[in-house]
Amino acid sequence: MIKLQERFWSKVNISNKNDCWNWNAGCFKNGYGEFEYKGKPIYAHRMSWILTFGEIPQDLFVCHKCDNRFCVNPDRLFLGTQQDNVNDMIQKGRINHELLRKNHDNFLGENSPLFGKKQGNSSSKYYGVAIHNTLGRKYWRAMVRVNGKQVHVGNYKTEFEAAKAYNQYVIEHRLSNPINIL
Ligand SMILES: [Zn+2]
Repeated sequence: MIKLQERFWSKVNISNKNDCWNWNAGCFKNGYGEFEYKGKPIYAHRMSWILTFGEIPQDLFVCHKCDNRFCVNPDRLFLGTQQDNVNDMIQKGRINHELLRKNHDNFLGENSPLFGKKQGNSSSKYYGVAIHNTLGRKYWRAMVRVNGKQVHVGNYKTEFEAAKAYNQYVIEHRLSNPINIL
């Protein structure tokens, strides 16, 4: 029987201490590496943490300093609470599709008008963001559905800014009032 450590690290492109070590095997749909541990699928970066530092305390997340989902370099991982993870995500402007999708699944289901679909004439790849053209002026608008009503979060110069505003809004309201958002 191959040892767990060997089995795990053979699937990793190990590089310099300060670089990303990318996962070189199967991934979950959301893009994080997948490993089988005790007969169950586990995130590869979590496995890396366990093998290096020991068990992950309950309710804590293993987060990436480098924001690279494939990366399992233990030096680039840190433990955080859900709030840390959310703050980190907002700060980096990362769109947490997992979290957003979970909201959609939980509260409106896949038939939600926002679920994975573009709004209006949007070509945006982000939830809740649509491009608008008014009198020749182009801007990105962030919209969120709250209690069945569309809330206008704001207009932004870039798609990315609008996506960040959307996320910020969703997360803040989700935390205070989880049932009524999205
Ligand atoms: Zn990395």
